[in-house]
Amino acid sequence: MINLNLEIAQVGNPILRQQAQLVRDITDEKLQELIDTLLTTAMDAKGVGIAAPQVSQSYRLFVICSHPNPRYPDAPLIDPTVMINPQIISHSDEIVKGWEGCLSVPGVRGLVPRYQTITVEYLDRYGKLHQQELRDFVARIFQHELDHLDGILFIDRVEKSEDLVNSESSKESQKMS
Ligand code: ZN
Repeated sequence: MINLNLEIAQVGNPILRQQAQLVRDITDEKLQELIDTLLTTAMDAKGVGIAAPQVSQSYRLFVICSHPNPRYPDAPLIDPTVMINPQIISHSDEIVKGWEGCLSVPGVRGLVPRYQTITVEYLDRYGKLHQQELRDFVARIFQHELDHLDGILFIDRVEKSEDLVNSESSKESQKMS
């Protein structure tokens, strides 16, 4: 039995600040194992997404698993979706601020500006190309996860320090990934 639930890298770990590498061979056995690890870790941690650098693997892939929660009761329920070499190919002009948290930055939430609507492309775990329009909460998760692949954390994007709060006291704490 392989260890499916790896430790999650925490802020301060340099791996979270690296530019992650493009995935070149999707059929690679180790990559497929990493995908399984991400799926399991995201579900165990009750996150709505997780990116490979968070389990100390600096590759361009993440998992999104949106589900309704106290902060986003209308969040769509999406089966855990693996997105490999993801990119934003276009976006709305409209930017919205919303609360985010991160499994790699425990105890803190922040108000983060993100594009409201984005059109994205990614490969699935079988190498098939997908193009999709994402909006609102799911678009937010995608942008948060994509940032992880570029070494950016949500705390870098808050506009003022007042937009960072302690999440321990809040029931609405939202762990993004
Ligand atoms: Zn995160």
